[in-house]
Amino acid sequence: MANPVLPSSGVLSPLGLDAVRLSPGFWGDRVALNREVTIAHCQDWEEREGWIGNFRGERPRRGREFSDSEIYKLLEAMSWADHPALPALAETVAQAQEGDGYINTRWSGSRYTDFEWGHELYCYGHLIQAGVARLRMHGEDRLTQVAVWAADHVCRRFMEGTETCGHPVIEMALVELYRVTGTERYLEMARRFVERRGLPALADIPFGRAYYQDDIPVRQAQVFRGHAVRALYLASGVVDVAVETGDQELLKAVEAQWERTIARRTHLTGGMGSRHIDESFGDDYELPPDRAYNETCASIASIMLAHRLLLATGDARYADLAERTLYNMLATGVALDGRSFFYANPLQVRVPAVPLEGVNHAAEGGLRSPWFDVSCCPNNIARTLASLPAYLATSTDDGIQIHHHSPSEIRHGDLAVRVETGYPWDGSVTVRVLEDGDGRIKLRVPAWASDATLAHRGTVREVTPGYAVADGPWRAGDELRLELPISPRWTFPNTKIDALRGCAAVERGPLVYCAESVGDEPPLADLAVRVQPPVENAANGVVELEVEASLGAAELGDSDGWPYAPAQNGHVDSSDARLRLIPYHRWGNRGPATMRVWLPI
Ligand SMILES: [Zn+2]
Repeated sequence: MANPVLPSSGVLSPLGLDAVRLSPGFWGDRVALNREVTIAHCQDWEEREGWIGNFRGERPRRGREFSDSEIYKLLEAMSWADHPALPALAETVAQAQEGDGYINTRWSGSRYTDFEWGHELYCYGHLIQAGVARLRMHGEDRLTQVAVWAADHVCRRFMEGTETCGHPVIEMALVELYRVTGTERYLEMARRFVERRGLPALADIPFGRAYYQDDIPVRQAQVFRGHAVRALYLASGVVDVAVETGDQELLKAVEAQWERTIARRTHLTGGMGSRHIDESFGDDYELPPDRAYNETCASIASIMLAHRLLLATGDARYADLAERTLYNMLATGVALDGRSFFYANPLQVRVPAVPLEGVNHAAEGGLRSPWFDVSCCPNNIARTLASLPAYLATSTDDGIQIHHHSPSEIRHGDLAVRVETGYPWDGSVTVRVLEDGDGRIKLRVPAWASDATLAHRGTVREVTPGYAVADGPWRAGDELRLELPISPRWTFPNTKIDALRGCAAVERGPLVYCAESVGDEPPLADLAVRVQPPVENAANGVVELEVEASLGAAELGDSDGWPYAPAQNGHVDSSDARLRLIPYHRWGNRGPATMRVWLPI
């Protein structure tokens, strides 16, 4: 089964790359572009920056202390994509492995001297995930051998003691290696890493131990906090440990932390992590649009976590959040040509970014960059898109569940279907049965889709958010037609989110929309919108929207160069205009721009 996550129990079983094949469409096109362009782009940059040369022993060593992990993430992407460059790159990596299984190009010779910032166990985590991907797609080879030797080394070195890594990821990697090999010590090692955290296991640092979730044990935490990628990778590993050990208390703890994080610490796009200074979650309701950090990797980690919770519980809310994050964060993270990337994903950009040649040394979100000093996001996008079909559908004993509607063919047991749809632009989803068979087919109805209908055997019935259900037996040629009402809608923020008061945003289906201004186009600083039904304009397969707005300068208390006044000043409607809105994931593809998702009313 070709899956990044394959739990041995849970309400739903994932269908893998062998069961789900994407056809051309929103995601099929992106997965193909990833295989054809982005994977080679990442390898070229890792070679150019010397990060691959580190494994050949080239000196001086180049890149940050965790740069090995980028090559491992790329190897994972290559594994899922069955990419021809994999064997040679795996052979290069293997040269750096030491006799006892240790492998790290930064810390060889001074190993395990910095658990807070050294990232050695973090790097193993990504190596092991690459090895698991290769085992499931191909079987044993040089890469899987390197990964298993490294995992065995970790178990020998760390099974006893109190140490853990400043950056989680090895927890979920070891559980998955246990799932594919059946070797129990990998699960036990992961369990111990989870239980050690928060005792505490690591030194205090200026950001505080919450930065690496070492402030309190995971069972006692109320919400995700600290560095967002670390928090969400850890939570994913905790779900894996809980599922495999049958630890319901541990699973419930993560579910509760997820609930509060969704209610109070998540941006409209699904982005997580408000603070730039330590790439961390903010306090409850601290969700400023212009200072939203929303690292692309955090969104990928959130998708990984939501998928695990969906498998464990069968609750459609996890698929809803995954969908929001896929369309508005993952799709935003990579340019339409597959060669440049966002690291941070703010919901408002006030000043157009200056185009850069070469490596971006910062992580700000004004323009996509071909590469970064810390290039976690491009490789993370590559491995996620390469394994994306595994997130679309699941199975139970009685049938299949389709969570994400995308043109595809899905085969499992007695069921073979083709999904035909123009989603997310169009809300019609047709499931055509390809062969005679039997089983229940469930189609997810997103939370925003009130008044959805399902047509089946000549009858049309209303279906509510959650899952629409249809039972067999099926004859080849039968079809189900799900109609999701996908007209644009206004969305308003909880008033507790101070930074968004007085604003509204527009969504259409799973897509969040934004206003963008490039070059001489009207500036966005002083606009105000009227909450009237948006007008749709479809062109070149993309639906844009228009809303009524005033674009003129607002008359604020701006006297004597002081932006505050004794009386409240409202917006002066100095012009009537129509404001063009584009899907958020498409912003920044026309050059330096200002942008905003939340529109003052
Ligand atoms: Zn990243």
